[in-house]
Order: sequence, then structure tokens, then C-alpha cells
Amino acid sequence: MLEGCIFCKIGAGKISSHKMYDDGEVFAFKDVSPQAPVHVIIIPKKHISGLDVVTDEDGRILGHIQVVAAKIAKQFFEMKEGFRLVSNCGVDGGQTVFHIHYHLLGGRSFGWPPG
Ligand code: 5GP
Ligand code: ZN
Repeated sequence: MLEGCIFCKIGAGKISSHKMYDDGEVFAFKDVSPQAPVHVIIIPKKHISGLDVVTDEDGRILGHIQVVAAKIAKQFFEMKEGFRLVSNCGVDGGQTVFHIHYHLLGGRSFGWPPG
């Protein structure tokens, strides 16, 4: 837990959120400012600042997050036409919260390439 990190606090239940999933290691909650009908943020509880600093040791949990994303997509939402899973990294990637997270987006179609 990193002092002052908003997603560490959400994962620890110290800041309230609309929880979607919690297995002790990975936590998911609705984005406060949804960009699509479905917009869920998925985080490891362990503080990692972003994809640019991950190590081999983090591989298992990052893989687990993708499985959790697919489970959330199937269990809670009608996204038969698909969905998108995104992790913004660094300033060019558009990252604003520096605790690694994945956006699970769905319920509409998305353009490519992103802006
Ligand atoms: P980023 O821009 O870093 O890829 O994504 C950060 C996301 O976290 C944004 O979509 C933003 O709306 C969301 N967010 C930031 N602060 C909070 C918060 O306190 N609660 C929730 N639920 N979402 C947040
Ligand atoms: Zn953190």
C-alpha cells in the first residue's frame, strides 16, 4: 500500500467504490466517470505504478487480471458483441492514476485507432 495512492485506498476499502469483484489479490470497481455503458477498473491490490515498471514476477497477476476481466464481462454484462480491455501507460498513454489498472469497456462499439 502506497501512502497517498487513491487506487491502493480503493483496493483496501479505505475509499468507497462500487465494487464488482474482489479475490484478495485483484479488485474491480466501476469507473467514477464512465466512458461507455460498461466501464470497470481492474487493479492488483499490490501497488505497481504502471506497465512500464512491471517485472517477470508480476506476470502471473497481470495474466490473472485478464481472466478476471473476461469473467466480469460474462457474469455481469451483456457484451455478446465484444468489449475492450485497455491499460494506459505514462503521459503519452494517457495515464492519470499511477497505480496500474485496466479499463474494461463495453456496451457500445469503439473506434480504432484510438485518438
Ligand atoms: P487512467 O486515465 O489513469 O487510464 O484512468 C484512471 C481512471 O480512474 C479514470 O477513468 C477515472 O475516471 C478513474 N478514477 C479516478 N479516480 C477515481 C475514483 O476515486 N473512483 C473511481 N471509481 N474511479 C476513479
Ligand atoms: Zn497504489
